[in-house]
Amino acid sequence: MIPGFARARLLLPLADPQRDRRIEDGYVLWRGGTILEVGPYDEPTGQRLLAEHGTLDVLGGPSAARAPADLVRHDGVLLPGFVKAHGHDHESPIIGMVKDVPLTAWLDGAVNVFTQFLEEHEQRLREQLGDSPHRVTYLKAKVDDVYYGITSALTHHCNFSKYRVDELVSAAEEAGTRIVVAVGSQDRMYFERLLDRPPQLALDRLDQAWEKHAERERVSIIPGPDQLFSNGPELLRSLKAWARERQTLFHCHSSEELGTTELFKKEFGKTPVQYAAELGILDEETILAHQVQTTPEDLAILRDTGTRVVHNPLANTILGSGMPPLLEMLAAGIPVAISTDGSGSADNQNILAAARLASQYQKALHKDATVLPAQQVLEMITVEAARMLRIDAGSLAPGLAADLVLIDLTRPNLVPTRADNVVENLIWASDGSEARFVVAGGRVLKDDHRIVCVDAAAVGEKVQRLSEELVAYKRAVGSLKGTGAHR
Ligand SMILES: [Zn+2]
Repeated sequence: MIPGFARARLLLPLADPQRDRRIEDGYVLWRGGTILEVGPYDEPTGQRLLAEHGTLDVLGGPSAARAPADLVRHDGVLLPGFVKAHGHDHESPIIGMVKDVPLTAWLDGAVNVFTQFLEEHEQRLREQLGDSPHRVTYLKAKVDDVYYGITSALTHHCNFSKYRVDELVSAAEEAGTRIVVAVGSQDRMYFERLLDRPPQLALDRLDQAWEKHAERERVSIIPGPDQLFSNGPELLRSLKAWARERQTLFHCHSSEELGTTELFKKEFGKTPVQYAAELGILDEETILAHQVQTTPEDLAILRDTGTRVVHNPLANTILGSGMPPLLEMLAAGIPVAISTDGSGSADNQNILAAARLASQYQKALHKDATVLPAQQVLEMITVEAARMLRIDAGSLAPGLAADLVLIDLTRPNLVPTRADNVVENLIWASDGSEARFVVAGGRVLKDDHRIVCVDAAAVGEKVQRLSEELVAYKRAVGSLKGTGAHR
């Protein structure tokens, strides 16, 4: 197998022990899905690599390079592919729909209507599209990820999508990205048709997904109860026991908007975090998405149990949920990753924009420009997120996955970029669209700004048709009430 080779004017390995290392003229060498070498490039290095390997397959250059002159240096920055620690792959067809409303109204008016539309009209849509309409939405989500340089994603697969793990895995494998599937469940406080009754249905679904997919190289299966309020205490305990038995992660939305937290206080006399702690489901393998409404007591519980948090600033601000006490979490030593959430609530998968907003918001809130520097938030969408998901990605180092992105530094908004301002420019000056090459598991997914892993134009056209039919359906059914604990 001919090794892959990439070289750029700048390289950010984001690897321990020196995560802030900035290399001028750097290269990455990989074979199959694994990185062999990372470091500064010079001509003797090029000669050595060619002598050792014969030929090299050069990213954006000759596929069988034999001379150092063939080892093209791009005017760009190489860094690890971005790691998305919380998202939903069924939402991209509903971007821009039902905006300027809070979370539950958006769930009822957009997400639930859309997923029910897919369920009810599946057969007709399948014939029209020549593919499962669910799989089409998952492929579109992968196109979005690759467009922005995301090579690994935890997909929280709740709602009607929880029945579609096979199609989700198939879309991710076709696209070539890594996926952690948090298989959804709910047995209360949702509309009737979606409830897992008896709750054993949720565990059976997990078992089936595990049997079919756990052995796949770039797929993980974990329990993903949708919400702490929509899964009863017995079910949450059983799901956590399932995860402990198989040594998997456990993922759940938590404390996103105020109404839910108030419901917990009223019903149980405790916050969602206190409730979860008493159930015994918080530990170092539990990842909570959002955790916006957080009391000082909650912070202590999260710290003491080792619980992880994924912060989704785009969704939290657009839906008016508020923002979590990010600095307090970090000061307490709680591991936090930054993510985008689904495309429906964030309206894009621009994970660099999410990192920027996380920093910008906290600087303004605390009237302190020194907090959350660019390096720190960049780590929270790469190395920290990968550590949280327990995957061998998020850094460029020998032995890790060959998941990388090359950002084009010739775009006007990124000129001038040098070694001393490259991280800052990625966070503050990029518009997210500059990912020129994306490689995942050693496979080129985006080649010179062109998505090559799936037929993005065909997928886009199908999603456009889906969205037009959805609007007609929505006119007929309105909203699907039944989501949201505080009513
Ligand atoms: Zn979410």
